[in-house]
Amino acid sequence: MKIRADYHMHSRYSGDCKNEIEDVIKRACELGLKEIAITDHGPAHDGYGIKRQDYWKIKAEIDLLKPKYPQIQILLGLESNILGTEGEIDLDDEMREICDWVNAGYHFGSRLKKDFGFHLVNFMSRFSKHFYQKAVEQNTSAVVNAMKRNEIHMITHPGAKGPIDIHRVAQAAAETGTMLEINNSHGHLTVDEIKVAKTYGVKFVVCSDAHKIEKIGIVPESIKRAVEAGLTVENIYNAESE
Ligand SMILES: [Zn+2]
Ligand SMILES: [Zn+2]
Repeated sequence: MKIRADYHMHSRYSGDCKNEIEDVIKRACELGLKEIAITDHGPAHDGYGIKRQDYWKIKAEIDLLKPKYPQIQILLGLESNILGTEGEIDLDDEMREICDWVNAGYHFGSRLKKDFGFHLVNFMSRFSKHFYQKAVEQNTSAVVNAMKRNEIHMITHPGAKGPIDIHRVAQAAAETGTMLEINNSHGHLTVDEIKVAKTYGVKFVVCSDAHKIEKIGIVPESIKRAVEAGLTVENIYNAESE
């Protein structure tokens, strides 16, 4: 099994990445990928997020490069932040108009609108059973509501930055037609989580979450977990047989 596309990667517009967009595209072409989405972090994160006004700069840069690399489809994406139990994300209507591919994930340190204890509960969940249970509740509501109220292509690294109830997340993903990521850079979804999600008929996406050029399109860990969980190319949106 191999991938024909990668829908999760960052550029220098994210605070935690230095990749030039053209270098990202060049590398994807070298690997023979047919499609990529450049998915920088949403603006509601002071450390990693893009400046909101830069979103139009990213689009302009991509539009300028498209004719130079006709062998690949280049999508303007975003890894939006899930900002609380009601499922708010930091992709507003104006940004949505130009966005081709919407990822959403929870990140520690994002700028919450309410639910101000949200990050603290996730932090404390590592030390206490009581907080772990609370974290599962809040994170599951956040991800499920995000899928219900927004049009999202893919939930990034479900469960990696805070525990979730995979049954409820998978059920909502199947109902809303939202795909779940098997992230190569983070351990989630785990093999067991993939097995559960599969029983609900979820569609999966295998992605690199590359912050470095050499990691683009490289997903051995994801594929290993997918195969171990019994997935085939039919279950994975961007996979094909070798
Ligand atoms: Zn992420
Ligand atoms: Zn990412």
